[in-house]
Parts: sequence; C-alpha cells; structure tokens
Amino acid sequence: MLQCLNKQTITQRFFKNFYTSVIPKVGLDIQEKLIFEQGNENSVGIDFEQPDLSIKSRLGHLKRNSKIGLPNLNEVQVIRHYSRLARFNYGVDTGLYPLGSCTMKYNPRINEKVARIPNLAFSHPFLPTEAIQGSLGLIDRLAEDLLKITGMNSICMSPAAGAHGELCAMQTIAQAHKKQGNTHKNYILIPDAAHGTNPATSAMAGFKVRVVKSTKNGKIDLEDFKKKCKDDVAGAMITNPNTCGLFENDICKIAEMLHEKGAYLFMDGANMNALMGRVFVSDLGVDAMHMNLHKTFSTPHGSSGPGSGPVVFSEKLTKYAPIPYIVNDEGEFKVIEKDRTGNSFGRMKAYFGQVGIHARALAYISAYGNGLASVSGDSVLNANYVKFKLEKEMSLGYPKNKYCMHEVLFSDNFLKGTTLTTLDFAKAMIDAGYHPPTIYFPLVVHGAMLIEPTESESKETLDDYCKIIIDLAINAKTGKYDEDFHEAPTTTIIRRADETRAAKFPILTYQEK
Ligand SMILES: *Cc1c(COP(=O)(O)O)cnc(C)c1O
Repeated sequence: MLQCLNKQTITQRFFKNFYTSVIPKVGLDIQEKLIFEQGNENSVGIDFEQPDLSIKSRLGHLKRNSKIGLPNLNEVQVIRHYSRLARFNYGVDTGLYPLGSCTMKYNPRINEKVARIPNLAFSHPFLPTEAIQGSLGLIDRLAEDLLKITGMNSICMSPAAGAHGELCAMQTIAQAHKKQGNTHKNYILIPDAAHGTNPATSAMAGFKVRVVKSTKNGKIDLEDFKKKCKDDVAGAMITNPNTCGLFENDICKIAEMLHEKGAYLFMDGANMNALMGRVFVSDLGVDAMHMNLHKTFSTPHGSSGPGSGPVVFSEKLTKYAPIPYIVNDEGEFKVIEKDRTGNSFGRMKAYFGQVGIHARALAYISAYGNGLASVSGDSVLNANYVKFKLEKEMSLGYPKNKYCMHEVLFSDNFLKGTTLTTLDFAKAMIDAGYHPPTIYFPLVVHGAMLIEPTESESKETLDDYCKIIIDLAINAKTGKYDEDFHEAPTTTIIRRADETRAAKFPILTYQEK
C-alpha cells in the first residue's frame, strides 16, 4: 500500500525538480487554466462575414464601447476545456462516496429520464393552472406519498433545500407561538452534536439557542434536556438518527417534555435513509420534520445544489404552515395561494418548489413501493458491516454502542502517538483510491471521521474499501510513514488546497491580471 504512495511521491518530486516550467500534470490529467486565461484577444472561435461598414449604425447610444469580454477560443479548445473539467468531477457514478451525513447514494438513471420529460422540464410556472395539471398532479402525488411514509398531517412542498426546510419549520413554530400570544417563548433547544444549519435557522426565525449536552454514549443527555426545557422554550430541533449515527431512544420522552411546556418538536429528517418504511415519525411525537429529497430520495447533489426539502407537520402546526399548497378538487388540481384563515406565516419561495426534484423523488418512491423499508434496512446493515470491519484498527467515536444506524463515527484516537491528524489520514485515502468520508464533523468527537456507505454499495466494494482503510490505519499507527501521510495526496492535480480560505474568500469573477 504505502509503497504505492512512495512511488507517487517520487514521481511528484521528479516533476518538481526537473520540470518546473511545465504545467503540472498527473498522468493525462492537466491542471486546467481558467477559460479566460486560455483565451487570446487576437483570435476568434468563429468566422464572421466582414460587416458592411458603409451602413450607418442604428445602435446610437447602445453601441458597445468596452471589450465584449468573451474568452475567444476555438471549438476544440472549448470542448477540451469542459471535458477536462468534467473529468475532475468525483461522484457516486465514479466510485464509493462515503460522506457521512450526506447520503451519497446511487441515483437511478430512470429518475433522470423522468425529470427530463419535455412537458415537465420546459413547463413554465407562469402558465395557467389548466396548462400545468400534470406537474401539479405530480407534486400532489409525491406529497401524498411523503405523508404516507411519515404518517404526518400536512406537508409544504416548496422549500428548496434541507436548511430551507428547517427554516420553514422554525418560521411555522414562531408563527404558532405568535398567534397564541406566547411572547415569552424565545428559546430553541439544540443538542451539541447538531448540524450547523439547526442553530442557524433557529436564529434566522428569531429564536435564541440553548445547547443541550450529549452523554458519553453520543446521545442526548436527558437530564440536561429536562433542566433546560423551561417555560421560555418554544421548541427543540432533534436530529434522529443523530449526527453520530445513533438512534435517539428518548425521542418520545423528549416530545412529551416539550408538549407539557407548550413547545414543539422539530425533527431534522436529513437521516430518513435509516428510518423510512420502519417508523411513522408521527408516532414519535414529532410536530414538524423536513426531508432531504436530494439525499434520501435520490437526486444527485453536492456543490450547493439542486435540493428540495419538503416539511411535514402535525395537526397542531398545520394551520400555521406556509402557502401555497395544491388541492385536488375532484380531479382538478388547484393552487391555493391565499391563506383564508390568516394563520399562515406566508410564502417560502416563488412558485411551487423544485419540480424536477419532485419528479425524481416520485420516480424513486414508485419504483420501490413497499420496498422502501429494504432501503433503510440495507443502509443500516452496510454501515454496521463497515463498523465491525474497521473498529479493530480504528477507534469508534462511541465504542459502547454495539450497533450504529446508517453511518458510523470514528475518532482520531487511534492516531495518538503519531504526528498524524485526521486530515492526513483522509488525504492518504485519496492516494489509495477512495474518497474520504466526512471529517471533523460532528464536533462532539475529536478528529471525527463519519462514514456513510449507503445501501447502494455492494459487499465487494465495501470489502475492498475496508481492506484499504485497515491497511492505511495499520501503516499510520507504525509511525514509519508519517512523511508520506503528510505529503498526501500526491496523485491529484491540486494537493492540499486552503479550504478555509477558499470557503471564506471565494473569488467568483475573473479579474484580468
Ligand atoms: C444535510 C443536512 C442538513 C442540511 O441539508 P441541505 O440540503 O444541505 O441544506 C441538515 N441537517 C442534517 C443532519 C444534514 O445531514
């Protein structure tokens, strides 16, 4: 294993020392310049006929005075530029993509085909409702299916992502308290393991956040929850299974405590891949929950979109939920745009939601039918398979739990005594041919690595993956290969990017040097 790393490192050094003037290359992968850097002002990619300059321009003050700002490349250059960029993509179609908390499952091609049906893909939201009955019917049917899966009372289909769905739920809870005159209810309880979008959306909806501790087994500390669940609490945001990949067994008790105080339970449903077909969330005492259609119900995602995060509500919250919604009036689908009771907090988004993603989710659900329970069963089975294979050489985040749900959490404990960090270990995985898992999240475990294989991986893939990771872990612990780990990845065009800087100071427009 590590021999392969060494060889690569040598190649890289060879290039560094002897060919500093060439564009960095790894095999046939080229470090692609920006399209504007490749362009040349003196060339044109297309032959225009010489304009008749004797005709007076009729453009008047609209005539362009500045440069046109096109990159000026010929067709071959353009094709190569975009084809090379496309090769840099890593996705579920390329290999295992075990990003915990993201559910990077295979997205069946039939879903893509359905979403591209021209009448659906090109229908315009400004068309009269008579002309978009098919699209509205599709949204309505998916809404019905999602209600069946969750057992809840009503649904809002418009939110455009998981975080947007959370915001939708928190605004609904805020509206419910406002309408009931509960001005003293300003706090939302959130466990310390929560996804960052939970506190963010609470704050955006006008609440303050009170953090609840986790126990040393990675679950909500019920005593701490009880202490903090006071009269000023408006609700709680509980992820279940939580971000440590563990089921919160006390969810029903938590719901009771909240309801006793006149507060609401929001469940972060991003991890529905572990539950669907197994439990009605309505039975858990949940008042609102978002689902990530782009995770659980198979829409390709990553790099900020596209997404869809419908929210289901209990009967208590239904009248405060946002508009618009679709009703089936004896076979005719109508869009209800106005809230007649004056209770709804309003609109989340223009139009009806992400119809293309609704189409994919409906295709996915229809293909599985009752088999959705086998999806959650297999995703939990696969995660536990990885857990039992890796736990001897790596260190579990919470070793006392015999089983995990759909993802398994490791800490950097096994790297103690070496100079290696979780980042070094994750980067070495790339050289070994595997995309790293989610790292340094959740924050409750030191140097976290969160692996979510999903149900779509075969035993062969998981066996190979575990073999390689075990090899890496054994080599890491010897302390003999620290330099190789620090150098990794050596097989990529860009080695270690400054990810924090890239996220905080992105340069989004090209500036000529
Ligand atoms: C992914 C995720 C979210 C946010 O969903 P987005 O669609 O990325 O906005 C929220 N909570 C959890 C636990 C998640 O995994």
